[in-house]
Amino acid sequence: MRTDTGQVFKLEDYRPNDYLIPQTNLTFRLSPDATRVTALLTIERRDGVSASAPLVLDGDGLTLKRIEIDGKKVKPADLLATPDQLTILKPPAARRFQLLIETEVAPAGNEALMGLYRSSHVYCTQCEAEGFRRITYFLDRPDILSVYTVRIEALREEAPLLLSNGNRLDSGDLGDGWHYARWHDPFPKPSYLFALVAGNLGQLADSFVTQSGRTVELGIYVEPGKEKLAGYAMDALKRSMKWDEEAFGREYDLDVFNIVAVSDFNMGAMENKGLNIFNDKYVLADQETATDADFANIEAIIAHEYFHNWTGNRITCRDWFQLCLKEGLTVFRDHEFSADQRSRAVKRIAEVRTLRAHQFPEDQGPLAHPVRPRRYREINNFYTATVYEKGSEVVRMIRTILGADVFRAGMDLYFERHDGDAATIEDFIKVFEDTSGRDLSQFALWYHQAGTPNLTISSTHNPAAQEFTLEIEQSVPPTPSESRKRLMHIPLAFGLIGAGGKPVAYSGVEGASVEDGVIHVRKRRHMVRFSGVTERPAVSLNRGFSAPVTLSVEQKADDQFFLARHDSDAFSRWQAFNTLLTDALISAFREILGGKQPGFAARLSELAGSIAGDETLEPAYRALALALPGEADIARDIGRNIDPDAIYTAREALALAIGTANRDAFSGLYLSLADREAFSPDAASAGRRALRNTLLDYLALQPGGAALAARHFQSATNMTDRAAALAVLAHRHHGSPEAIEALAAFETIYGSDPLVMDKWFQIQASVPGPQTVDTVRVLTSHPAFSMGNPNRVRSLIGTFSSANQTGFHRADGEGYRFFAQTVLEVEKRNPQVAARLATALRSWRSLEPSRQAKAREALLSIANAENLSADLRDIVERTLA
Ligand SMILES: [Zn+2]
Repeated sequence: MRTDTGQVFKLEDYRPNDYLIPQTNLTFRLSPDATRVTALLTIERRDGVSASAPLVLDGDGLTLKRIEIDGKKVKPADLLATPDQLTILKPPAARRFQLLIETEVAPAGNEALMGLYRSSHVYCTQCEAEGFRRITYFLDRPDILSVYTVRIEALREEAPLLLSNGNRLDSGDLGDGWHYARWHDPFPKPSYLFALVAGNLGQLADSFVTQSGRTVELGIYVEPGKEKLAGYAMDALKRSMKWDEEAFGREYDLDVFNIVAVSDFNMGAMENKGLNIFNDKYVLADQETATDADFANIEAIIAHEYFHNWTGNRITCRDWFQLCLKEGLTVFRDHEFSADQRSRAVKRIAEVRTLRAHQFPEDQGPLAHPVRPRRYREINNFYTATVYEKGSEVVRMIRTILGADVFRAGMDLYFERHDGDAATIEDFIKVFEDTSGRDLSQFALWYHQAGTPNLTISSTHNPAAQEFTLEIEQSVPPTPSESRKRLMHIPLAFGLIGAGGKPVAYSGVEGASVEDGVIHVRKRRHMVRFSGVTERPAVSLNRGFSAPVTLSVEQKADDQFFLARHDSDAFSRWQAFNTLLTDALISAFREILGGKQPGFAARLSELAGSIAGDETLEPAYRALALALPGEADIARDIGRNIDPDAIYTAREALALAIGTANRDAFSGLYLSLADREAFSPDAASAGRRALRNTLLDYLALQPGGAALAARHFQSATNMTDRAAALAVLAHRHHGSPEAIEALAAFETIYGSDPLVMDKWFQIQASVPGPQTVDTVRVLTSHPAFSMGNPNRVRSLIGTFSSANQTGFHRADGEGYRFFAQTVLEVEKRNPQVAARLATALRSWRSLEPSRQAKAREALLSIANAENLSADLRDIVERTLA
């Protein structure tokens, strides 16, 4: 474990290293406790660098066994070797030389899951961001691009399969039960994209013919016996390869593309060149074990990692400050892929819900940072929703501003100009400026400035003058270390809607530049005047969520009801209804705090009923619309003095009111949606299941609800329905005989399938109420649970702390105390996972005072623990600052 050195890395300190490593030859002799790694590096001094410049290589907990330069031993006086650094004090005078380094590592004991480790007897690697330095000493930074040749030696019995990046050169027997394979990757790459896998794995094989007619061998490797569970992932891979050719003109470049699924993995997946390594959760699926959400995630993540081959691998990042260059862009690409494969409107709503749930709280709290940060202490903590999701929104805005054709021309130029480069955000913006002839310097603030901009908007209609005016004012709230903000360029898509939902015409507009239904907000204040407007329109704002901003709109409830029925923009129509629900929940929250029974307008329930039954809307869309805003979403909109119990009560009351008003209609619809055909994971079938399960959630609060959910559970023919019914029983009818029986049945059926048991942990960890902290504590001793496995930790501890508002924020602080203890326990094995968990308290200052004090105590108890890792200390100190 790397303890904190307190060192802060700053963007402005970037400079190229004095040395390059054009060639890297690695030999691994694998053994669980003592793997020998021999690195033969071709080192090249840069032009103009003095021959006396020392060569300083990164390490992390390494043991040096041998070191030679050009075949001769290096004298101890000429080098400085510590576990974390290797300095060649006097490199040879020649500009190019060969450096041989031998290190020894112990993969079996590597619980941090960075570098070379073992997962269920399979050797595998994770090198992003700085894991390669746990394997050998190296210039472990993304701007050092090297051509890798890798030789792997292992006992055939222990590891019949030997994989690395690129194409296989040869393989053979070494005697005494050992064998070897050699791999060569012709594309220069940074060390974070290096990968090795060795073990006994089953293979699903297929192939893909690229647009230029080359055949690529595809392999997905999984635990033996699970090959048939990789079929959907393979199908998603082939669709991704085809889509990238059509949508971006990008063809795959090697002869093989392999994916390996491992069960112990810190992240979702990793895009190593030609050898992606996946968390098995994002590969393995069938109807019996995976939900529709799992299928959609597999499709999206397979696509994401594949798309990195161009956006990340062929063009990589100059330094880690540029992480969004590969991540934001690649998330945008995978979102577009999913939108094309499924429903664009439904996908967009889901993206925005995710952005608001994960990125907005980050942007509005102590961990706020720009999409391209300027400083970090631990880069592992910057794999955030801001870099990924907001980074994707910024790319989407570029397309909105330039139009699809110019955007595509800009992307073509990006690939042409920067192939083989370690690039920067400036390079990326420049291609769009060059293609469009526009100045994007004000727009670029989206990369440089943290915080969610707010637009305050009001409108007036002057019938005599036939003039409609929108008054728009922008502000960006202060964020840590950025108190003053500059004005942003915000593309605000809008529509003026008249009677019957028809667009309202206007003859002219002044006060802002308006193109193709987009107002370009650039100043603090705009008075946008539309002339020739005869009737007062309802105004639909931020259509399609054209900019990741918050809106404060003075709008009559009548207009919201009108838009929720008539807006022709599917996103904005959803938004109008969602805003009505949120407003009702916030009023109810205030009534509850004031000791009153909350009441809801009958027309809100009526509207819910009409959306549910509207056959012109896709079932998936209706399901999303009927899903009430989450407790955390409501808390974020309230902003301060949060009492999670009152929010929960308000939300339950609204669910009961809507369900009661629509009981017969919901019941009839629920029955009509029952699956009659064989299971298919396609979007339309998944949408019907989603709507039916959403209706079940409402009906469960009605008389006979527990029995209905129990029948749903027992008759389920797929995991989507089974898990949904189990959640409804556990959450709505906690402690009932039906709930207890269903939980036990689920455990009996799936007890030996860890990925399915994650759902069982998740459902129990999210049961609302003060008793859940005790349940979660007991479950940490369940035989299927392990503190060493990131998926288990995330499903039980992560769900409890980030998705259980009433349980985690228990009034007496017990949730926080359990949490602090557990984070420290996880940290001993895996600092990265612990740091991620710890972000659950990032919004602690918005709580009411008593909970706030208890949350602070818990944070301090983590901060004061001894030998804290750099990862965890960074998060906790920033959260407390
Ligand atoms: Zn990525």
